[in-house]
Amino acid sequence: MSAAFAVWTGWSLHAYNVPVSLMLTAALGVFNAVFGPAADLAAKAGTVTHRCRESGCTFRVQLTGPDSGESRRWQEIAAQHPHHL
Ligand SMILES: [Zn+2]
Repeated sequence: MSAAFAVWTGWSLHAYNVPVSLMLTAALGVFNAVFGPAADLAAKAGTVTHRCRESGCTFRVQLTGPDSGESRRWQEIAAQHPHHL
């Protein structure tokens, strides 16, 4: 979808005799603006984050696509890590 929109943007600029380097820059900008957030959302859909519950500690573990056992193990590690940040 975003690739098609980027090509369409490039093609539209071509009608105005815009140099190829500028068309490519604009098309890539459109592609990144549309595809970047979509890719981030897709990655976050399978991401689990466990944070330390100690007040003021910023320690956290982020897992991508863990099974329940692995997620539980990292949740315990995050809760009991030795040096709070
Ligand atoms: Zn901590």
